Amino acid sequence: MKRALINVDYTYDFVAEDGKLTCGAPGQAIEKKIVAITKEFIDAGDFVTFGIDAHEEDDTLHPESKLFPAHNIVGTSGMELYGSLKDLYEKHQHDEHIFYFEKTRYSAFAGTNLELKLRERDIKEVHLVGVCTDICILHTAVDAYNKGYNIVIHKDAVASFNQTGHEWALEHFKNTLGARVI
Ligand code: ZN
Repeated sequence: MKRALINVDYTYDFVAEDGKLTCGAPGQAIEKKIVAITKEFIDAGDFVTFGIDAHEEDDTLHPESKLFPAHNIVGTSGMELYGSLKDLYEKHQHDEHIFYFEKTRYSAFAGTNLELKLRERDIKEVHLVGVCTDICILHTAVDAYNKGYNIVIHKDAVASFNQTGHEWALEHFKNTLGARVI
């Protein structure tokens, strides 16, 4: 079955110690794993996508503006991929199988052409890595479920600032969305 990797929000603002909306240590702890999985998919010639939050400054109409501090503002270093994932991405960004896209909601499917890109390639299975397990990974997984994709969650390559939410989401992926949590 053709598969794709969806790399979600592993950016400076979500991961670095002084990121604007950071997962902190749990986010930093998955760096090696997320890079290893991304490299494995690239080397296998699979479709590798990066769905990255992109917000406008002072966008008071955006629902997140009432919920979270400003983060991943377009044009700031906070939106850059974190650590060695940035190096790996930059090395391969012009490869045919790499697709970087901006998103403005939790789900990588909301208002993006991710689904079109997957359908064009007849991809039936999506693998998710990144942050936060119980927010953007969760909402992306719910959309993938509703669209009929098989879902694989790499549990050592997702993280959250909320450990309870992280653990709840891992159970939800498995028991409610029928995902393989590996
Ligand atoms: Zn956001």
